[in-house]
Amino acid sequence: MAAGDAQRVWFSQMVERLRDHWHPDMPFDALISLRDDLDAMLQRLRLEGDITSPVFRCRDCGRVGPAAPPHVSVRAMVLSLSRFGIAPAEQIHALEKQWAVHRKQNELDLYGKRTASPPVERSPCTHG
Ligand SMILES: [Zn+2]
Repeated sequence: MAAGDAQRVWFSQMVERLRDHWHPDMPFDALISLRDDLDAMLQRLRLEGDITSPVFRCRDCGRVGPAAPPHVSVRAMVLSLSRFGIAPAEQIHALEKQWAVHRKQNELDLYGKRTASPPVERSPCTHG
C-alpha cells in the first residue's frame, strides 16, 4: 500500500462518483444520500485495499490502538467539490454556508443524520 493511504479519504473512484452525481440544484436530502454513497464506497475501498488505520497512543486515555476509520462528512464532500475542480469556489462557499444553516435548523450531525436528543457527553477520544 502506498504511503498516506491510511489517512486517505478521497479515492479517485469517489471523486468520479461525486463529479457524475452532484449538481448545483441538488436538495440537501440528495446531497446527504450522495454522502452515504461515498462513505460506503470509502469503507469498501479501504476494506478491499486492506487499509487499516495507523496505530497511535491516545493523548486522552493513553490507550494504544488504531485510530477510528475516516468517514466522509457532508461538509468535507462539499469542500471537495471545489478542491477537485467540480464546482467554482464561490459557489461552494455559498453551499457550505447553506449547509451549515440547514444542519442547525434540522439538528443534523456532521453526516446529515438526525442527532439523538439530548446529546450525550461524547468521549474526546478519536479511536474506535
Ligand atoms: Zn482514548
